[in-house]
Amino acid sequence: MEAASKHDASAQGSQFSKGLLQSQELHQYILETSVYPREPEPLKEIRAASDSHPWSCMVSAPDGGQLMALLLKLINAKKTIEIGVFTGYSLLLTALTIPEDGKVTAIDTDRDAYNIGLPIVRKAGVDHKIEFIESPALPVLDKMTEDPKNEGSFDFAFVDADKDNYINYHERLLKLVRVGGLILYDNTLWGGTVAYPDSLVPDTYEFPKIYTSKVKAFNKFLAADPRIQMSQVPVGDGVTVCRRL
Ligand code: SAH
Ligand code: CA
Repeated sequence: MEAASKHDASAQGSQFSKGLLQSQELHQYILETSVYPREPEPLKEIRAASDSHPWSCMVSAPDGGQLMALLLKLINAKKTIEIGVFTGYSLLLTALTIPEDGKVTAIDTDRDAYNIGLPIVRKAGVDHKIEFIESPALPVLDKMTEDPKNEGSFDFAFVDADKDNYINYHERLLKLVRVGGLILYDNTLWGGTVAYPDSLVPDTYEFPKIYTSKVKAFNKFLAADPRIQMSQVPVGDGVTVCRRL
C-alpha cells in the first residue's frame, strides 16, 4: 500500500479505525476511489488548516461527510442545526450543500477553533448561511424548545459534541426537527471500542475509555426508541442516521 499522505483519514485515525471495516486497505480504497476525488476544495482546505491543532483528529471523516451531504440533498434540507463545530468541516459541508436561502445554526463552546476555519468558510462564500453560537449546546437547545415556533422547524441536525449529552440532545432535537427530518449522530462506534468486553476497552488519547459506556448506552437507547427510524452506518467513526417518525 502506498504511504498514507498527511491528510488521509487513515493517517489521522488510530489503530482502532480499521476495526470498523476490518481492513485499513479497504477503507483507504473507499477514500481514494470515491471520497477524495469528490471532496470539495474548501473542505480539503479546512482539513489542512486544522492539522496543527492538537485535536485535529476531531475533524469529521470525509467519507461520513460525503454521506451527510447526500442525505441533506435527499431531504432538501434548508434549515439545519449543528452541535459541535470545531474548525468547521461539517459546518462548511452543510453550508455548501443547503440552498442559497438555507440556514445552519451552529453551536460550540470553542470559538477559537471555529476561527481557524472561518476564513475558508468566508472565501467559499457561504458564511451568510451560518449562525454560530458560542455556548454549551444544552441551554441553547432548551431555550429554542421554549419557543413554539421552533417546534418541528428544522429539517436536519448533526450532533458531534460531548458524547455524554447525546441522549439529552436527542430529546430536544426530537422537538425541533420536523417529522421526516433527520438527526445524525457522529462517533457512535467510538473507535470500535463499543464492541470490546468492558475489561479490555483500551484507553487512548483519541477515544478516552470513559466515553465507551456512554456511547454504548446511547446506541442501546436509540435502538429501542420508537420515535425514530434508524440506521447505524459504519462510515467514519460510525454515523447513526435517525429519521423522526
Ligand atoms: N463536527 C466537527 C467536529 C466536532 S469536534 C467537524 O466536522 O470537524 C467536537 C466539538 O464539540 C469541539 O469543537 C468541542 O468544543 C465541542 N463541544 C464539546 N462539548 C460541547 C458542548 N457541551 N456544547 C457545545 N459544543 C461542545
Ligand atoms: Ca466526530
